[in-house]
Amino acid sequence: MQYVSTRGGVPAALYSEIVLQGLARDGGLYVPREYPKVSKQTLKSWRGLKYANLATAVTSLFAQDMQRSAIARICEETYSEEVYCHGRKGTDFSKIAPLVWLEDGFGILELSNGPTLAFKDMAMQYLGGLFEYILEKKQTTLNILGATSGDTGSSAEYAMKGRKGINVFMLSPAGRMSAFQKAQMYSLTDPNIFNIAVRGSFDDAQDIVKAVSSDLEFKEKYRIGAVNSINWARIAAQVVYYFSAWLQATESEDEEISFSVPSGNFGDVLAGWIAKSMGLPVRRLIVATNENDVLYEFFRSGRYRIRDSAHTYVTSSPSMDISKASNFERYVYDICQKDPMRLRELWSELSRNGEFLLNAQEWQRVKASGFVSARSTHADRLRCIKTIWEKHNFLIDPHTADGINAACALREKDEKVICLETALPTKFAATIKEAVGFEPECPQGYEDLLRRKQKVVEMDVSSDEVKGFIEKNVSS
Ligand SMILES: *Cc1c(COP(=O)(O)O)cnc(C)c1O
Repeated sequence: MQYVSTRGGVPAALYSEIVLQGLARDGGLYVPREYPKVSKQTLKSWRGLKYANLATAVTSLFAQDMQRSAIARICEETYSEEVYCHGRKGTDFSKIAPLVWLEDGFGILELSNGPTLAFKDMAMQYLGGLFEYILEKKQTTLNILGATSGDTGSSAEYAMKGRKGINVFMLSPAGRMSAFQKAQMYSLTDPNIFNIAVRGSFDDAQDIVKAVSSDLEFKEKYRIGAVNSINWARIAAQVVYYFSAWLQATESEDEEISFSVPSGNFGDVLAGWIAKSMGLPVRRLIVATNENDVLYEFFRSGRYRIRDSAHTYVTSSPSMDISKASNFERYVYDICQKDPMRLRELWSELSRNGEFLLNAQEWQRVKASGFVSARSTHADRLRCIKTIWEKHNFLIDPHTADGINAACALREKDEKVICLETALPTKFAATIKEAVGFEPECPQGYEDLLRRKQKVVEMDVSSDEVKGFIEKNVSS
């Protein structure tokens, strides 16, 4: 299988070549030339597979240049009960992504039982094994540099810790994360994990990463890489749980179900779109947003209008606080029938005017694609958390509440809807307390987290200081 850029300006490449890269050199995103197809017969044969085997079957469709046995080994190691065991008491962790029915035809897919208690572990843990394997094959090493306001950084660190040939340098804004988030990252003492607290904001930290990465000589010499949400291997690994959910929810190959997905950078719901494009019987994909409603606006009007920082709000579902959605380009590429010229036209309009509007044909294709959207506010989240707790004795986090709220608003009669759980409530204890009056229970293995020894260095907002730190800790 070959990969091309959405902007059409780079030669085709293979999976093992693109997964270590971020953007393509023409500024576009890598996508497979065609999505692989899965027949009803194949779907049927996948019933009863354990998650690791299903993951091998699905991800190897995207990685035909890799040995299937290598992928199988990575999936076995990744999708085990030892890794995804941090959720609620009584959960069947052997399913890895268990589906729980709240009522008839209305379920929650538990994706947040991994080490950082958020769904990003589902793909990031796989990425850890994949990177280690590819780097070893290529006889090289990688230094991952990133900035985080909480979730992605810790997920990356837990996936890469102790891996051969990989270091992680993760910048975070000093004093601006929750005690839980700080403890989660800074308590890692593995020698290949470097936490850097920057005396500034998240944006300052992000700017440092951009400055260091645009110094091409430095980047090359120290083999600087990233693991952000546009990474194709992460998307492909996320496709797996849509198949898993559908297999758990249905009994016949003709049955369609819908998914509701709390969305930020559009990686999670894009994976659902890819699953549908591959032939999974998906009826609708519900894009749930919070007050940062760029995507909601698009799916209502065909107008994509990105926000400036003054209009990007801090909300109680912070991992969805986005001004633009970095994976969205991959979906629009499909809507443009994979025409890179048209895609480039739209994106240059976006950089000129901060928005674009699809033409009538494209808008028809959006409507035919099965996407719909709803937005929620803080008050909606609180109400939803309380209702689900009182009705079902099931405590959800604020992001998952956005998803459930959207599903409740849009669900049609007899429509089976599965809501993706993107984080456990423990991570957002203050909002939970506001909603139900008590704090969520601490998951297994985290009781002493806040008391663990922490390893972090503090720095000024200075890319030179960060470069110096990398030079000191890495041999070129
Ligand atoms: C990252 C994240 C999201 C958004 O996922 P995207 O793939 O960026 O759309 C939603 N909820 C939580 C808890 C997250 O960490």
